[in-house]
Amino acid sequence: MTKAVGYAAHSATAPLEPFHFERREPGPRDVEIEILYCGVCHSDLHTARNEWKGTVYPVVPGHEILGRVRRVGSSVTKFAAGDTAAVGCLVDSCRTCPDCREGLEQYCQTEMVFTYNSTDKHTGKMTYGGYSNAIVVDEDFVLKVASNLDPAGAAPLLCAGITTYSPLRHWNVGKGKKAGIVGLGGLGHMGVKFSHALGAETVLFTTSPGKAEDARRLGADSVVISKNPNEMARHFGSFDFILNTVAASHDLDPFLGLLRRDGTMCLVGAPEHPHPSPAVFQLIFKRRSLAGSLIGGIRETQEMLDFCAEHGIVSDVEVIPMQKINEAYERMLKSDVKYRFSIDMASLK
Ligand code: NAP
Ligand code: ZN
Ligand code: ZN
Repeated sequence: MTKAVGYAAHSATAPLEPFHFERREPGPRDVEIEILYCGVCHSDLHTARNEWKGTVYPVVPGHEILGRVRRVGSSVTKFAAGDTAAVGCLVDSCRTCPDCREGLEQYCQTEMVFTYNSTDKHTGKMTYGGYSNAIVVDEDFVLKVASNLDPAGAAPLLCAGITTYSPLRHWNVGKGKKAGIVGLGGLGHMGVKFSHALGAETVLFTTSPGKAEDARRLGADSVVISKNPNEMARHFGSFDFILNTVAASHDLDPFLGLLRRDGTMCLVGAPEHPHPSPAVFQLIFKRRSLAGSLIGGIRETQEMLDFCAEHGIVSDVEVIPMQKINEAYERMLKSDVKYRFSIDMASLK
């Protein structure tokens, strides 16, 4: 066992506070990582406050983990002490079901183990996430990050990056396609960067007029204030694909109406309260699809990290000390972050 320190929530209404716990002793296949940075995902907040129900307390959130390998088990082949290493939303799965065999561990049919708030196969206890100074993970679920990427900005790629990259790739967003990204938060700003890098005409939908200039700098060809019906109407029936990253319940119909025939809107935002049902006519008249997507598998996460290394893509981050996490949550709720908080774990020492 290794002593670890982190920040945990002890109830849905309590602020996060310092928490001492133990990480398992690395087994033969394990990599022990000293965490340098951890991104702050809106899912951390949903979980800390039990908005999705099912949170087991205390919970240590954090699944955008970037660090340095401290020790490796005797049969680890892909990592050595001193390497840069990263961990995302998953730390294990059954590895044998059809989805795992296809490299889609996020859709594992039996034993998916999330980085926090899941049952750890090794200890039978709850998994604790990246708001901490160290983590021990099976090497099959540890990712490699190129040294040319800024580590504070690379951390959020492990969730915000893969969650937007995966659906953009799945629905073939690229040259000759028109793609919309709804919401310029942690996920949304990565969606804009990827859609632009993949060569698609990229339109950002926002409720925050003050973000328009940033959106263009990040790669949007145009920006639409989604609460303005006239601006929305200009794009009616024109999109091949829309990626909706909004973290709150809202009316989907105005966006569905912007899809062309056979277009798809994919939801990745996971709000506490359901969206109002979409109008069936918005779907049937143009054979449109409404879809969803969950993070991405390990193979695709590595592909995304390599794509980022090649294109020099990282998240735009505001680095904070661990002690500022509760303030960061309140600011995230007000859409007041450009565009991801990244916790500097040196602040825990
Ligand atoms: P975030 O940084 O808070 O960004 C969400 C954005 O949504 C905000 O910046 C804002 O953009 C927009 N927004 C917020 N409230 C809104 C409202 N009431 N109406 C319209 N727009 C609103 O959150 P995030 O970390 O990107 O996460 C977004 C959502 O994705 C969360 O629900 C999270 O749990 C979920 N998520 C899902 C997956 C998955 O695998 N599917 C993975 C990670 C996260 P504007 O200011 O530009 O309007
Ligand atoms: Zn996340
Ligand atoms: Zn499986």
